[in-house]
Amino acid sequence: MSKTRKSGNCYGGSPSTRDKLASGFVEALEKDWAEHGSEVIQQIRLDNPVKYGELIARLVPMDANLPSANDFPSCQSMEDIGRKLLKSVGRDEATERAKRPKRSSPRPIVEQLPRIDIADLCRWNVFPNQCDWHKAHLLELPFRYPFVKSLVISLQTIEVNHYSDYTQCIPLRWCRTGFGGNYRPRPLFICNCGRSVRRLYFKGGNLNCRRCANATYASRVCSKRLRPVLQAKRIQAFLSLKSYMRKSNRQRLKTRLVTAPRQDFTSKRLNHYAIQHPQHNYGTRGAMHWR
Ligand SMILES: [Zn+2]
Repeated sequence: MSKTRKSGNCYGGSPSTRDKLASGFVEALEKDWAEHGSEVIQQIRLDNPVKYGELIARLVPMDANLPSANDFPSCQSMEDIGRKLLKSVGRDEATERAKRPKRSSPRPIVEQLPRIDIADLCRWNVFPNQCDWHKAHLLELPFRYPFVKSLVISLQTIEVNHYSDYTQCIPLRWCRTGFGGNYRPRPLFICNCGRSVRRLYFKGGNLNCRRCANATYASRVCSKRLRPVLQAKRIQAFLSLKSYMRKSNRQRLKTRLVTAPRQDFTSKRLNHYAIQHPQHNYGTRGAMHWR
């Protein structure tokens, strides 16, 4: 195959006819340009000044306005290159930082917000029977829920009477569970945003889900070093609060305590009773009466 192809000269050897022709043409052009080139340029300038301007603009290199273009070899990483590029177009890191609005107040922590848990309502049996869809119960819990005046509970909705004389209507969704087909449905709150949630948090005068309240968990606020400390504090509190527990459960939790670092919890934001409280049952049975 390579034998039949004679033109082309990329592998050394004698120059082909086409190459000879091309070099001859270029030589002649060069000679002619040396003789008449300056005259042609002058003629272009006189005849067509627009074209002349375009020609000069095309000769100017594109990156001439990048002052730091020569510094790129000195960059250590892609971030450095990005920073330099941003600088070259007039966007500095310092100015960007100044432009970013500061958060006026830190995000509230979920564990600290007053909340209504649907599991509590289910445990207290406050819902009417499944066949009584017209019934509604008035529930006043000044000690349990001091942030609301009263609750009117029916199977469709929960009406929350706030102290500001605002009545918030929270629809309920009954989702099926796997226990006996449709016989043990479980309620969920439907937040304004459309999410079905188990807990609603009281913030800004009404009840919202966690995302609408813009709340975050304490464990997410912790640093990597502090998170095991928080865990250990919660387990310790759980062991002291839970009166009866199987021996094996207690042993399992104690082994988790030993592995956690025994430092003091010094964060001001997290040094709160509700945060260092156990948040669940750690796999032991029974209700959490201290919740
Ligand atoms: Zn929501």
